[in-house]
Amino acid sequence: MPEGDALHRAARRLQPIVGERVEVETPNPRARVGDLAGRLDGRRLLSVEAVGKNLLLTFEGGYVLRSHLRMTGRWTLVPRGAERRGRPWLVLRGSAREAVLWNGPVLELHTRAIRRLGPDVLAAEPDLAHMVENLRSEDQSRAVGDALLDQRLVAGIGNKWKAEALWAVGLSPWRPLAETTDEELRAVLEAAAGQMRGSLEGRRNANRAYRRAGRPCPRCGELIRSLGQGDANRTAYWCPRCQG
Ligand SMILES: [Zn+2]
Repeated sequence: MPEGDALHRAARRLQPIVGERVEVETPNPRARVGDLAGRLDGRRLLSVEAVGKNLLLTFEGGYVLRSHLRMTGRWTLVPRGAERRGRPWLVLRGSAREAVLWNGPVLELHTRAIRRLGPDVLAAEPDLAHMVENLRSEDQSRAVGDALLDQRLVAGIGNKWKAEALWAVGLSPWRPLAETTDEELRAVLEAAAGQMRGSLEGRRNANRAYRRAGRPCPRCGELIRSLGQGDANRTAYWCPRCQG
């Protein structure tokens, strides 16, 4: 699952063609809805940025292309005209290089502002106070682990960093927001931001809780548990002893 850090890496990868007028093609028939190529071809690409789990590509004329990669999507940057196998969803061809989107399951062209996302956990200076405020504006019976994945509240945290950040601060994903303090919420957000920033900068870190169900907790030795959480039933991982 591409998480916020993977999206930031993709945004960085595409920077060399920002500022160029691009030739646009949609080789995959599934990407032809909405005539993306016709509407974007020849426009200047003004910016590429990761916002939460979306890559937003802004073109002159007020067009914003939203690319969400889900499990499978991938952006590459290759020399212009490089040979390829298969049909990518989208090709943005600059003067020397071209950006290619493979298996991009969500690709939408907007002409107005994108639906509001929460503050980005990977911003240069993450707005932790605003994130805590958003979490407090929610139904307080909601479990903290579920709320952390809500992109309207905090943009960018995925299932892995949710599990790792909650483990790092010793907070159960099942604790209702009402039973958390602002300091605890701030600490878990700070942990997620720090871990994700580290991953973006290439630091490797072994999972402590994520995908370790049935194995001993590295802190206390109790066995890590897992269970589906929230409307999307994404699996939560936690230590029942030290994440009280
Ligand atoms: Zn433990």
